[in-house]
Amino acid sequence: KFNKELGQHILTNPLVSQSIVDKANLKQTDVVLEVGPGTGNLTVRILPVAKKVIACEADSRLAAELTKRVSDSEYGRRLEILIGDVMLHDPLPFFDVCISNTPYQISSPLTFKLLLHKPQFRCAVLMFQREFALRLVARPGDSLYCRLSVNVQLYSKVTHIMKVGKNNFKPPPKVESSVVKMEPYNPAPPVNFDEFDGLVRIAFIRKNKQIRSNFMTTSVIEMLQNNYNTFCSANNIMPLEFEGGFKKYIDAILSDNGYSESRAAKMSIDDFLKLLYAFNQAHIHFC
Ligand code: SAM
Repeated sequence: KFNKELGQHILTNPLVSQSIVDKANLKQTDVVLEVGPGTGNLTVRILPVAKKVIACEADSRLAAELTKRVSDSEYGRRLEILIGDVMLHDPLPFFDVCISNTPYQISSPLTFKLLLHKPQFRCAVLMFQREFALRLVARPGDSLYCRLSVNVQLYSKVTHIMKVGKNNFKPPPKVESSVVKMEPYNPAPPVNFDEFDGLVRIAFIRKNKQIRSNFMTTSVIEMLQNNYNTFCSANNIMPLEFEGGFKKYIDAILSDNGYSESRAAKMSIDDFLKLLYAFNQAHIHFC
């Protein structure tokens, strides 16, 4: 009955559904975006405590089932269903809070779609595959600390709320799950995301190696030199002549700022921001 490709694992434990909704601390004035409502086990708990629920569901058959389920309820009129792939809704409608037992195949793009959405939401309570959730909350030095941890924590405070075993779903997924809460920093940091991600991506090519060695590869140097030339010509800046080559220039920026020997695995968001600032001051960009 359920479509595996759409990650249809219905949350059947009412205690888990209720605590997900409780953790969102909804106000009666809130507009809630629910991604993938499925048969509506979370939706029926959100409707009584919110002003409106906008539920985006890819499967029109489940959307029809949900419409039927709430049609007799006194809160049914608070529900609006958008049928289709949430990733194709651009922009997303306004919402204060997002709640979702997410389809795991869109975990990463959905996370960034939410975090880059404007105006910012207040919080999101999301069910993810356990390992993905642990990556989201990992801190410098943790074994799962990665590019995803850094990029997400640039924009929001992320907390692990609870573990959810596979037997709380029907059919049970192959992996364990966890619920996390994201609370975006307001205002959002004034950083260009692609630029920040470009630097973090290089730093994490080998996260336990000194970042200098990641930066010194021919492909990275070529890319940064191209970006440098493009930036200079777009801004009428005379490109510098580099004694010893562009590679030396990059090396000097790393060492002058004290990052030559740093390893991404242990660098904080502040470190990445400082390093990005230093590169940008030297007209070096990452996208
Ligand atoms: N919320 C329900 C629950 O907790 O029982 C169902 C959650 S199930 C893990 C994921 C739901 O997301 C399914 O109903 C699936 O059809 C829907 N879905 C999958 N991919 C989607 C997408 N790209 N956009 C919107 N909905 C999607």
